[in-house]
Amino acid sequence: MQALVKDKPERGASLLDRPVPEIGDNDLLVKVKAAAICGTDIHIYQWNKYASSRINLPLLFGHEYSGEVVQVGKNVTAFKEGDRVAAETHIPCCHCFQCTTGLQHICRDMKIIGVHVDGAFADYSVLPDVCAWKLDPSITYPVGATMEPFGIGVHALAYTQPVGKKVVVFGCGPIGIYAQMVAKLSGAECVIGVDITNERLELARKMGTDVILNATEVDVPQEIEKISKGFGADIVVELSGNQAAVKNATRALRRGGDLVFVGLFSGPVEIDVTNDIIYKEAKVYGITGRVMWDTWWSAQSILLSGKLDPGPVITHQFGLEDYDNALELAESGKTGKIVFNI
Ligand SMILES: [Zn+2]
Ligand SMILES: [Zn+2]
Repeated sequence: MQALVKDKPERGASLLDRPVPEIGDNDLLVKVKAAAICGTDIHIYQWNKYASSRINLPLLFGHEYSGEVVQVGKNVTAFKEGDRVAAETHIPCCHCFQCTTGLQHICRDMKIIGVHVDGAFADYSVLPDVCAWKLDPSITYPVGATMEPFGIGVHALAYTQPVGKKVVVFGCGPIGIYAQMVAKLSGAECVIGVDITNERLELARKMGTDVILNATEVDVPQEIEKISKGFGADIVVELSGNQAAVKNATRALRRGGDLVFVGLFSGPVEIDVTNDIIYKEAKVYGITGRVMWDTWWSAQSILLSGKLDPGPVITHQFGLEDYDNALELAESGKTGKIVFNI
């Protein structure tokens, strides 16, 4: 089978011919139909510090995917050949404290598909049955591949109450836009998207965001103060992973507001805890991945309701052989989601 493999400790990747993988007793063999490019894949492609400190070579990467089950291990009862599935990226151990208390997505022994084990930029992928989500027949494979990042957008707002509120999302990459769409659907009175790239801001606007702010052109906290008539934002979601954005995010938050951190930072981040957290009585949340399977049920309900269509957030689709172009385009930071059709 064709497989996009990170095989050298340098920039790039290689499309190799590999045998179809063997599955274990609790696994599914999935014929990959669509696989989306994530920030993690860009790190792996670039081979920056984030990637080189986490990854053992060679690695077949790619983790946001959907496909058709073509074989099941002998212990698998919930899935069968022909089932359409989407993949949950976090592989829980199923035994630790977190896994046994409904927090599998932050399992202490968690492995990640396409990071710790071989992934899905290939014709076939091994999917542990604990990570398989049955894809509704009405959801296309490309959208199915993006249920994983869409789920982060859903999870990002799960502990807040956006009804009638002003919600600001820093970062208009695909997950940022999903979060903005979910905020809008959840009844937010005004959704504000902040980014430094006009292409992404325009995509956010196209998907329904009320106000877009380019942080290189305006003083973001000042603009938010104007929009909120001096109150500040009720809910701020930080998805940019950028120190400068954190400063704006904490300043823009109103007293008693919710501050949700989702985007990953390359190092420690400076926050004025006294003034921006304590005196504001800000409620701070860290969000990672998707609650299994609460978030997936919510994400599916939203998709099936037809009230929100994340399809147009996929701005580009490629064949796997075009991987260099696809990953370089993703690297530009100017696109929505990029999906390989495999
Ligand atoms: Zn991802
Ligand atoms: Zn666990």
